[in-house]
Amino acid sequence: MVKHLQHPSQQLMLACFPKNGVYHNGPRAVQEDIFVFVAENGSSIIEAGTGVGKTAAEYAILRACQKLGYQHCFLITPNKTILTQIVNEGFEGVKVALGRNEHPCLYYDEPHKADEIPCSMLKNCPHRVDQTTGKTHEEGAIPCPYLQQKFEVMQGGVVVCTMAFYLFTHLFGKDSDGHNALVIDEAHRISDVVRNCLSYEITDFHLEKCIELLQMIEASETETLKKFLFSLKRIAKNKAKKEGVLLDPQEIQRLIAILEEIDVNDLLEKIERAVRERLIDPEKDRETLKHLEVLTRDLRRYIRSFEFSLETDQRKPLNYTCAYYTQEREGKSKIQHRLVVKCYYVAPLIRKILPDFYCAFSATIGKPDNFGFETGIRGPFLSLDSGFPVDHTRVYLPTDTPNLAVNARNKRDLTQVLRKIAKACKRLSEKGHRSLAVTISNAEREKFLMLCMEEEVDAISYGNGLTAKEAAQEFKNGKGDVLVGTAANYSEGVDLPKQIAPVIFFLRPGYPNPKDPGTIFEERRWGGQRWVLWNYRIMNQALQVRGRNIRRQSDLGVTIFISQQFRRVLFASLPEWLEKAYRNSLTLDEVLADAEKLLGG
Ligand code: SF4
Repeated sequence: MVKHLQHPSQQLMLACFPKNGVYHNGPRAVQEDIFVFVAENGSSIIEAGTGVGKTAAEYAILRACQKLGYQHCFLITPNKTILTQIVNEGFEGVKVALGRNEHPCLYYDEPHKADEIPCSMLKNCPHRVDQTTGKTHEEGAIPCPYLQQKFEVMQGGVVVCTMAFYLFTHLFGKDSDGHNALVIDEAHRISDVVRNCLSYEITDFHLEKCIELLQMIEASETETLKKFLFSLKRIAKNKAKKEGVLLDPQEIQRLIAILEEIDVNDLLEKIERAVRERLIDPEKDRETLKHLEVLTRDLRRYIRSFEFSLETDQRKPLNYTCAYYTQEREGKSKIQHRLVVKCYYVAPLIRKILPDFYCAFSATIGKPDNFGFETGIRGPFLSLDSGFPVDHTRVYLPTDTPNLAVNARNKRDLTQVLRKIAKACKRLSEKGHRSLAVTISNAEREKFLMLCMEEEVDAISYGNGLTAKEAAQEFKNGKGDVLVGTAANYSEGVDLPKQIAPVIFFLRPGYPNPKDPGTIFEERRWGGQRWVLWNYRIMNQALQVRGRNIRRQSDLGVTIFISQQFRRVLFASLPEWLEKAYRNSLTLDEVLADAEKLLGG
């Protein structure tokens, strides 16, 4: 095998540029800039906003890598929505890999998804596809759709998959050896995706179910799990509240000591034997068996995660563990105690899954140092002009709106400014301009909706069975004058081009809740430095919100940032081409007049 593969040349990437549909005229100048940069620098970080045409460039880079002999050429995205958009481009020779939750399991008569069943415990499943040979466990059986897809993907080529799929196959599986190339789409989101994928939750309810099942097969580990459950309950009851409380080192050490008593291989063997001998019924006990599968599979990971929650002489904690005392229902039963292990410092893990050659793309990289600190991805950096005319947009920060920081605002500031926004939406709608209003908390969203009602503004939002996505779609179809939602729902993923909502109001930056265990952990871990990290996230979010209504060259759209908290970070977060659109010396009334002039009406 060749020891080291070259990164692709400019000529090769140009030759691999797609030729279908809108791409038949070849790459645009800005796409060629990407190829020149990658050819000169190899692995790169590229800031490319909407309109650059990064998807076609991403594909050309990977196709070129494939031609150079890279075995697996992955294009990874944060979620299935973006993945589907890429697949719909119809590029030649692209394979798609979806997670277990997107495939049916064929083992059961009842319909179940492949992530709802204890697959690894069902060794005799006739549909199981051997990942080395591609053959089913039983000759002639219909191949398991998930494993069949995985087998095909692992044969090589250009593969589009989610970040989660890539993470699990590369961090925990030995599924992808050889020379690989990786392009990360929306790379600013990779840290959060990895954090979510690697965070665990252990509840009293599920532990009790597992204990019952182990008791039934007379496994000696039952007693150890009972001890663990007892400790979990005591910790959660003694100190935890609804918001969760960080565990102290002694408590973590106690939990580790208990779990270390379990011999995972031995336990797995006992469970598998019980399934073979039908002591455990895979049909009747499916759910509990699934929990047991997760528990045994994750035991080592729990222990390691707990260990990473402790500080050592060499390093600060990398994870944190918190306990919750809650009152939730799971079917007919109650969950009262919950232990959550949060994977926090993921930069080293992300670095570990980067192959020799990689390109990270995002519309919002910001400062490469901060991006590298958060994601672990470092390399030569290229920031591209979006090519959008700057005079089609404005970024406003009015002078007469309040500072909405909790310790800076007056009691009535929030209500007053929300009412002003509602009135502004009304004024704009009378001129034919619809708006998007983005809040941080749900309470702010609800208050704003109430004020809209009082001001007779036709507002639409989610709730009462309507999802955020559905509400946005109804708005796009013409319902309502203002779409209202939190940043968690509408800062990304909702595109409002063609003046669907040419005005965006963004209420305030979403600094973390000081009571949240994650915030407390970051304060302890980073001290004063935490502000660099928090401001970086705030800046990214501000840019994402701003981008909702400018998706094409011809779009006209403005964003009005309300809280004076933005004054510290907003201008610094803007890419160079957008700086000319920044207006920070107008009152809100003047802002509205200026926006109306730009938008017409
Ligand atoms: S291998 Fe069998 S048990 Fe596992 S998901 Fe596929 S069909 Fe279901």
